[in-house]
Amino acid sequence: MDTAEETAIGTGDRRRRRRVLLFPLPYQGHINPMFQLAGLLHSRGFSITVFHTHLNAPDASLHPHYDFVPVHDGGARPAADSPDDTVHATVEHILALNRAYEAPFRELLAAVLDDNAGGSVACLVADAHLLTLLDVARGLGVPTLALRTGSAACFRCFTAFPMLCDRGYLPVNDTSQLHAPVIELPPYRVGDLPAARSPAAHGRTREVLRRAVTAVATSSGLILNTFDALEHAELAALRRDLAVPVSDVGPLHMLSPPPPASASASTSCLLRPDRGCLEWLDAQAPASVLYVSFGSLAVMSATDLVETAWGIASSGRPFLCVLRPGIIRGEPPSASPPQLPDGFDAATRGLGAVVAWAPQEEVLAHAAVGAFWTHCGWNSTLEAVCAGVPMLCRPCFGDQMGNARYVDHV
Ligand code: UDP
Repeated sequence: MDTAEETAIGTGDRRRRRRVLLFPLPYQGHINPMFQLAGLLHSRGFSITVFHTHLNAPDASLHPHYDFVPVHDGGARPAADSPDDTVHATVEHILALNRAYEAPFRELLAAVLDDNAGGSVACLVADAHLLTLLDVARGLGVPTLALRTGSAACFRCFTAFPMLCDRGYLPVNDTSQLHAPVIELPPYRVGDLPAARSPAAHGRTREVLRRAVTAVATSSGLILNTFDALEHAELAALRRDLAVPVSDVGPLHMLSPPPPASASASTSCLLRPDRGCLEWLDAQAPASVLYVSFGSLAVMSATDLVETAWGIASSGRPFLCVLRPGIIRGEPPSASPPQLPDGFDAATRGLGAVVAWAPQEEVLAHAAVGAFWTHCGWNSTLEAVCAGVPMLCRPCFGDQMGNARYVDHV
């Protein structure tokens, strides 16, 4: 990039050549890779406009070179967590988001397209779950790219869903089925498939996954946060089955340019990371610490939290544990941080640190971290693989069981 262009970046982006529009799904695990992709595109000379929901809105002040367009949600709020079927609740929420944002997004996108001063629009990169919004953009003549923030293997399950139903793997009518291998998709077992657990929710999930595949197939291409050395066979299968180009651009957290030294490593965090834990790690022996985090969405019962705490204490190892507010099932994200059981502090004798949110990428890259007890969200999995940290897997829902199976077997 030449100096003149760098100057243009420093004085605001409106003179850049081409503009990429981005629309993340408003969940942490989807926002992070979208912003990492934004950083990558920006460093290659594109202007960036981020459409976003009010729910989990990004902090625009942390990205002074981007334009932000808030889209009113018309009241779409996360569905209440359903204890037995988080996939079902998530599917309903995604459908509600698509319904709520369709009309406002059409209006705002048309306005951005009319704004000639903003530079010509190259395309919209939207989260692949924003099915309707991808259609809206294409309807207005904007080429679309779908970003899938999960693994290639997971999207293969989406494309294979009709086959999985035809061959009787799904829906799961009997829990003994859960351990059966999925012969066509090794190393998956039936219980690893990103499917609704309740047969009643099966039809709805099948319909959403069909629409998700159509949204990708009717876009100009699919972007995946993965890389060939990690998922060679899965990427090859997708390229064979999909008529659109499939780009493996990951691992995005390593390829996107680092944020300014003054900012936290992740400028897209919805909770403020507690950076004090990095100093605490500095004082620990190399590869000695067990890092424990279950991501931004997974919930557990109060009983499971007690068991988890005693498991950590009984390991006798130094630990860094993330207990995010709302991790207890039924509690809102605004709840106070959960309490550890009586006697826990005495039992662990100051061996550990507990935070509400950690600067995870930096934690995993820290020499003191020897293992990661994780829920196996795809970002966490990629971050651990790239940092070379062994994982203990405690998957909860969605794609996490499949990710755990791959961690274990591949
Ligand atoms: N994360 C973080 N601090 C934490 C826990 C998680 O910064 O204390 C980040 C983590 O680095 C990852 C994202 O939040 O990028 C979680 O995404 P993932 O796909 O692993 O799980 P999800 O939250 O979507 O279940």
